[in-house]
Amino acid sequence: DEARAEALLEGLNEQQREAVLHGGSPLLIVAGAGSGKTRVLTHRIAHKLATRQVRPSEVLAITFTNKAAAEMRERVEAIVGPPARGMWVSTFHSACVRILRREHAALGMRSSFSIYDSADSQRLLTLVARELDLDPKRYPARALQSKISALKDELVDPEGYAQSSGASSGAANEFDEALSAVYTRYQQRLRQAHALDFDDLIMTTVHLLQAFPAVAEHYRRRFRQVLVDEYQDTNHAQYVLVRELAAQGESGERAELTVVGDADQSIYAFRGATIRNILEFEADYPDARTILLEQNYRSTQTILSAANAVISRNPGRKPKRLWTDSGAGPQIVGYVADNEHEEARFVAEEIDRLGDAEGVRPGDVAVFYRTNAQSRALEEVLIRVGLPYKVVGGTRFYERKEIKDAVAYLRAIANPDDDVNLRRVLNVPKRGLGDRSEAMLAAFAERERISFGAALDRADEAPGVGTRALTGLRAFAELMAGLRDLAATAGPAEVLGAVLDRTGYLTELRASEDPQDATRVENLAELHAVASEFEQAEPDGDLADFLERVSLVADSDQIPDVREGEDVEAAVAAAREQGVVTLMTLHTAKGLEFPVVFVTGWEDGTFPHMRSLADPDELAEERRLAYVGLTRARQRLYISRAAVRTAWGVPNEFPASRFLDDVPEELVDWKRRESSMAVLRAGGSGWGSGASAWGGGGSGGSGGGYGRQRGRDEARSGPVTKRALPSTGASFGSATPRPAGDVPSLDVGDRVTHDAYGLGTVVAVEGAGPNAVAKIDFGADGTKRLLLRYSPVTKL
Ligand code: ATP
Ligand code: MG
Repeated sequence: DEARAEALLEGLNEQQREAVLHGGSPLLIVAGAGSGKTRVLTHRIAHKLATRQVRPSEVLAITFTNKAAAEMRERVEAIVGPPARGMWVSTFHSACVRILRREHAALGMRSSFSIYDSADSQRLLTLVARELDLDPKRYPARALQSKISALKDELVDPEGYAQSSGASSGAANEFDEALSAVYTRYQQRLRQAHALDFDDLIMTTVHLLQAFPAVAEHYRRRFRQVLVDEYQDTNHAQYVLVRELAAQGESGERAELTVVGDADQSIYAFRGATIRNILEFEADYPDARTILLEQNYRSTQTILSAANAVISRNPGRKPKRLWTDSGAGPQIVGYVADNEHEEARFVAEEIDRLGDAEGVRPGDVAVFYRTNAQSRALEEVLIRVGLPYKVVGGTRFYERKEIKDAVAYLRAIANPDDDVNLRRVLNVPKRGLGDRSEAMLAAFAERERISFGAALDRADEAPGVGTRALTGLRAFAELMAGLRDLAATAGPAEVLGAVLDRTGYLTELRASEDPQDATRVENLAELHAVASEFEQAEPDGDLADFLERVSLVADSDQIPDVREGEDVEAAVAAAREQGVVTLMTLHTAKGLEFPVVFVTGWEDGTFPHMRSLADPDELAEERRLAYVGLTRARQRLYISRAAVRTAWGVPNEFPASRFLDDVPEELVDWKRRESSMAVLRAGGSGWGSGASAWGGGGSGGSGGGYGRQRGRDEARSGPVTKRALPSTGASFGSATPRPAGDVPSLDVGDRVTHDAYGLGTVVAVEGAGPNAVAKIDFGADGTKRLLLRYSPVTKL
């Protein structure tokens, strides 16, 4: 063991070694990108284990992604062997789920409680708002959701909010009043359904620890080493959680707390993360030791210099000296494209050329962009030239309707009181149980103070339900009962198979002539494969365990793609192994590294994002995002921009990103400096090809939803990871424009139908004739900005 412990220290520099060996007081490691922070955490755990200062079961390590956790565990296991399995190495959310499952009784919950992802919680909020007679125009579910989510990040519960907003004393304004009522009822409904939403996982765990001293004592006694990676991106709730766990126990002892982070890489302020947590660590823990790491082991000097130049312009930051001895390396390559398609072509050709000239494999290459919608143009070109790629960052698979339907069935089977999911599938596939039957049953449930599921079983007693509907309800109740019986003995894959067969869901899709339905069948097959893999990996796992896994993976749209839960690193590792190019947003790239990196879309309005331009704080965050992006590169870095980019169906000219001005000239070899704007203005090639980027219609979405909403919009608009052709949203992407005369002329207030989104109401119209753009509210599908010429919209 001693030899092992010694070996762990080799290959570390002086400061890293000090950080690994430190003991006796809280430890803060602050350092720039690529300086070995994550490596120090791993070595520290391994060293403490090898020297028997701590047992595996006494270690709690929080990382950013599940895979980062898996990797950390693997590396430690390689050193100390199988006992390392006793460690808790996980994301914040997974750790909280573990605690809550164990302590559910204290909270009066079932151990098989459901975890609602953001779509589930939006559905529930829609129901709640309807019950409270709130105007959905003024109080859209998404807006309510993001407010409530922000409150939970701040650990403000409904009572607390009622007080602070003045709602409880009648002093609140109308909006706060409504929000307070919604929040209160929403939490009640979650409780009734034995469900927690994503933000509850953290808030509830904190409340648990604060309200039950014995429970808190248990965990304080248990965890002797608590370590947190990417500490700069913790929000208030997570901060308090860590503080509670690492507080002094009754014995007077406390866990050794180690946090690592980089204030320059804080990129989740819109989700409530606060740099303050890192800046004030020393104040919170007066005896803390702070260690700075200054040597970068990842990038060339050229790359570092560019990154440092960009970040140094942020006001109020502590200057850092980050150096490397890996040499200058090649110049950064710059390229100015006429439009996003040409930019994509440049990227693809360059990847190809690097392969031929230098043996660079596609798996060594990553392409980053600011928003998911930008991947579309890249994907099209990569497909055309035959370069294999993978889009990492995504809920996309789990956001698909058929997957959500199937998972909703499984949830409703696992938890009979899960009203939201039960109601989602009540009439899916169609079985004649319309809104009316649902409403009757819901009213009955309300009156009897029972769950919707319980009401379903007593449908005979519900007044106002017609005979035909009653037959349908009975059949549905029997179907669900049969599936629950099966779930008592069978594994998740078999249950899923039964759901798809017995409900007729698969039969209906197979009978359809719509090619999209064929894709849906493939996706369901994929979900079945996921369930089978789960069964093999966890032979003891039941349906609830499987659903927990799915929730944690699926809820990536919490972030600009995925933050907790998504197996980003696993996806990246797989992409590399398969030798495919990795596409991802800048947010998702955090913590990763690649030999060759393309950072695209350096335009004011794209990156920095349009909404940040007027707000210095947001702009500073965009700049940190640039720093994160640039510092992912090990050897070669490319930066590119498009002079014209089509967003929401409308081609727009964008000036060069202001961040580019900060990159010293001599570091960049500009392959092309100017766009041929004259040609563009005359010929409008950006326009002609605009249709292909048009599918991003959802990305503009409500338009107003920046801030916390931003990430959700982007994740939602993202293309689907698995697909053979650039045909997601085929109704847009492959749409041929209709003749100018056929463009419907719409007015505010008109009712329309859309082939994909269904019924909608026009809320705004811009322009006229062939260029008319309408903003249309599709209810649960959100508000979309659609270029009418390309949209399958019909006026009613
Ligand atoms: P980020 O801020 O991006 O999260 P980080 O500070 O966590 O970066 P790591 O990912 O731990 O940095 O390390 C960056 C790279 O440098 C990794 O490839 C790591 O293996 C390597 N590295 C770190 N320290 C050393 C060292 N002492 N000797 C050799 N390589 C090192
Ligand atoms: Mg790291």
